[in-house]
Amino acid sequence: MSSLPSALDPKTQAFPHLSDEQIDRIRPSGHVRNVQPGDILFSPGDTNVSFYVLLSGRLEIVQPDLNGERTVTSHGPMQFTGEMTMITGQRCLVLGRVTEPGEFLELSGDAVRSLVAKDAELSEVLMRAFILRRIALFNAGYGNVILMGSRHSSQTLQLREFLSRNAYPHTYVDLDTDRDSQMLLDRFHVTPSEVPVVICNIRGVLRNPSIQDLAGCLGLNSNIDADGLRDVIIVGAGPAGLAAAVYAASEGLDALVIETNSPGGQAGSSSKIENYLGFPTGISGQELAARATTQAQKFGAHMMIARSVVRLNCDQRPYEVLLDRGERLRTRSIVIATGAQYNKPKLSNLADYEGKGVYYGATYIESQLCGGEEVVVVGGANSAGQAAAFLSQTASKVHMLVRSGGLSDTMSRYLIQRLTENPKIQLHWNTEITALEGDGSLERVTWQDKKTGETGTCEIHHVFVMAGASPRTEWLRGCVALDGKGFILTGRELELAGIPDGQPSWRLERGPLMLETSLPGVFAVGDVRAGNVKRVASAVGEGAISISLVHRALAEL
Ligand SMILES: Cc1cc2nc3c(=O)[nH]c(=O)nc-3n(C[C@H](O)[C@H](O)[C@H](O)COP(=O)(O)OP(=O)(O)OC[C@H]3O[C@@H](n4cnc5c(N)ncnc54)[C@H](O)[C@@H]3O)c2cc1C
Repeated sequence: MSSLPSALDPKTQAFPHLSDEQIDRIRPSGHVRNVQPGDILFSPGDTNVSFYVLLSGRLEIVQPDLNGERTVTSHGPMQFTGEMTMITGQRCLVLGRVTEPGEFLELSGDAVRSLVAKDAELSEVLMRAFILRRIALFNAGYGNVILMGSRHSSQTLQLREFLSRNAYPHTYVDLDTDRDSQMLLDRFHVTPSEVPVVICNIRGVLRNPSIQDLAGCLGLNSNIDADGLRDVIIVGAGPAGLAAAVYAASEGLDALVIETNSPGGQAGSSSKIENYLGFPTGISGQELAARATTQAQKFGAHMMIARSVVRLNCDQRPYEVLLDRGERLRTRSIVIATGAQYNKPKLSNLADYEGKGVYYGATYIESQLCGGEEVVVVGGANSAGQAAAFLSQTASKVHMLVRSGGLSDTMSRYLIQRLTENPKIQLHWNTEITALEGDGSLERVTWQDKKTGETGTCEIHHVFVMAGASPRTEWLRGCVALDGKGFILTGRELELAGIPDGQPSWRLERGPLMLETSLPGVFAVGDVRAGNVKRVASAVGEGAISISLVHRALAEL
């Protein structure tokens, strides 16, 4: 058995002792169980695991691994079991074995979740411990998953990102550097063409899996009941969807969030969000998403991860949401928070430099990063023009790369004048980036004039991609009215702009509520909405507002 890492030291805040008074408050929610040495109370992969408070006796927590078992911790009297799976209802990660006889207070998962919702003081103690234990397991790589891959494979990167964005403890074996990895590959009869490989629960082997396969093997969605009628289904778990989930669940609605990948959305790819209220030193998008996800789950929201909504059946009410593997989920109302995808240049290594030289926004912060240097702005419409004009105040030179032979027809006249008269801005027509280079961060950019074929390479560390964003609304066509670019029209926009020809029309006598789409009881929030302002704060605000409107829509039924 390997020894305890310090992160799992039982003396930390992750393993507090409850007071007699706290235990008395827990007592009515459970029953006392006599336990004997050797009793196994839960094992990795188990669902519906009970929560135990030790009144007397001792329980060791271990994790089976390829070499036997490794110790996680040992609980004594007044301590309690559990980590984040206690709240999420997902499959258990560890094994609990009694080492000294005694009496344990046993509560069902539902009972502990209801306790956390009702008792603020106990909620703080339990939630803090569950979160810290998960962080400790994650940092120590104590999970029942081994990912074997190569740092040169984008599929490996995708799986690593998925595990890390879902804070799922795992061990990563880099086949390029790990000398013992061949032994592992041989043991599981894996050939190099099948890499990356995931060993799930120490037994199952997934060869070159998709994130859906991985989520399935880990049972991330095993706690979701696909039958029954929901109050609200929230599609997308970016900032807007997560905010909607927190407010919906905390206000007692039966809420399910469905997310194609992992919670966080575009914000999840931001290394630091500096302009979100309340975080003066900034917060990474992943951390913000992890906190919001935990918060939503604490209030009872359900999360379906690595699953996509592919169609909406809007001919009948309750509405029916169709998923990528054919399931149909029924709901009284819907919050669409599917965001937008920034249009990106087709460069294989673009993601390597996102946040490390490639940016999708040009605010004060980015402008400070490139003060006195040459920068590139990609795009020929308003957002690119504004960025170029703004960056020219701090950069020594701005190369504006425009794919077509002129600036967009929609660009304001004043902006065109500002760009063409600014000696610091050089406009490159018919030009596209063809290569990005740099060790760790961006160092060099190559672009090509597509008309003449001429190329140029410059030592440039900052590229601003402002080539517009495409909404993710393909699955909604025919159900809700969209603007010319595919963004969802809502509330006043719907009334002012009028519903374009051939688009679904508003059917009720009352006018649409704010954020309501042309389909009653279906709301759109965040970057997917026509007229949105592309900010985390506004996405979160709209997500929160949408739930008060959902209540009004539900009251009409
Ligand atoms: C690199 C980067 C840095 C940024 N930095 C900042 C910043 O510092 N400050 C700031 O205010 N803003 C910033 N932004 C903008 C901000 O992130 C967005 O405005 C915000 O994320 C929008 O939130 P959203 O929830 O509306 O959409 P998104 O964040 O786009 O989330 C939408 C989610 O829906 C999911 N989804 C899509 N289709 C489906 C489907 N059919 N089924 C299920 N799920 C689906 C997606 O996978 C995604 O997770 C940044 C954006 C980027 C890309």
